[in-house]
Amino acid sequence: MRAGWNRIGFRGEAICTALAAVAAAAFVAAQPAVAQCTITASQTEGPYYRTPNPETTNLRIGSDGPPLTLHGNVVDTQCNPIAYTWVAVWHADMTGAYDNTAPFDRYRSFFFTDANGEFTLYTIMPGLYPGRTRHIHFKLDAVNTPLLTTQLYFPNEPQNATDGLYNPALEMDLVTESDGSRTGTFTFVLARSGGCAVPNVTGDPAPQTVGLGGTATFSMTASGGTPMTYQWRKDGVPLVNNARISGATTNSLRITGVTCSDAGAYTGAALNSCGTDESAAAGLTVTGCVGDLNCDGIVNNFDIDPFTLAVADAAAYEIAYPECDRDNADVNGDGLVNNFDIDPFVELLAG
Ligand code: FE
Repeated sequence: MRAGWNRIGFRGEAICTALAAVAAAAFVAAQPAVAQCTITASQTEGPYYRTPNPETTNLRIGSDGPPLTLHGNVVDTQCNPIAYTWVAVWHADMTGAYDNTAPFDRYRSFFFTDANGEFTLYTIMPGLYPGRTRHIHFKLDAVNTPLLTTQLYFPNEPQNATDGLYNPALEMDLVTESDGSRTGTFTFVLARSGGCAVPNVTGDPAPQTVGLGGTATFSMTASGGTPMTYQWRKDGVPLVNNARISGATTNSLRITGVTCSDAGAYTGAALNSCGTDESAAAGLTVTGCVGDLNCDGIVNNFDIDPFTLAVADAAAYEIAYPECDRDNADVNGDGLVNNFDIDPFVELLAG
């Protein structure tokens, strides 16, 4: 009996040990585990890589199609987002041809992920060409990551089975929308090693005074890990390049044909995948704007009504001329906009 109990007791102990192991495993699983993301496999760049151009996330041309919208994430092996990762993309057009002959830079570009390591690429389903299944080429680089060259594939493509480069781990998730367009998602995982050199602005832009129609240039310098990009802001609003503004995402901003409404505070941010640093603000003062209350760049009779409004009702002026500067009604330069500016304004108009 006792031996039997012993045997049962021993057996029970073994069961308890096994249950304890199960419980321990469940306990471990319930802990906030350190996330592990598997590094994205690299692939050959193939024969059609060139220095990517232009900087854009929209590769669509006319009515080529069907449209593909690809939502991408870039993370490290702990699944933490890698901000401002440089991404190059290139793929064949709808007929399966690359831009090897003019016009160049079709279905080819570069861009940076946002602060959350995310991007959205607007393009089309690449066409097939002999020997390959449907695919898109990518290169990705961030601070202290090796340059990743890879390709993404599409699910349910018959040619996947016969393409020697095809890797199911590089398949995007793909949804076909009711209008026939496709929406894809993929998470790129880069190995990040060592420390992270956060940008540090080492040279601030200088304040400037420019006459109407002149050119203003703001420059900054920054140290930190590369690749590095920049973003200039006026009064906190990000600038984009246009006919008069260039270098909005470089370390040197240039504004030509300066107008009264360009006056303001300019800051530049240096960004890389480790973080960002912003310069001190530099003021742009535009001369020749006193009396220009409709901010069209000249002082004439069309400024009479807005001048009258600026003197009579500041709030109403701000609403009526949101882009303009009420300070331009301070024609006598005493720091106030009031009735004492009326006579000097009339004199200014009279020339
Ligand atoms: Fe290719």
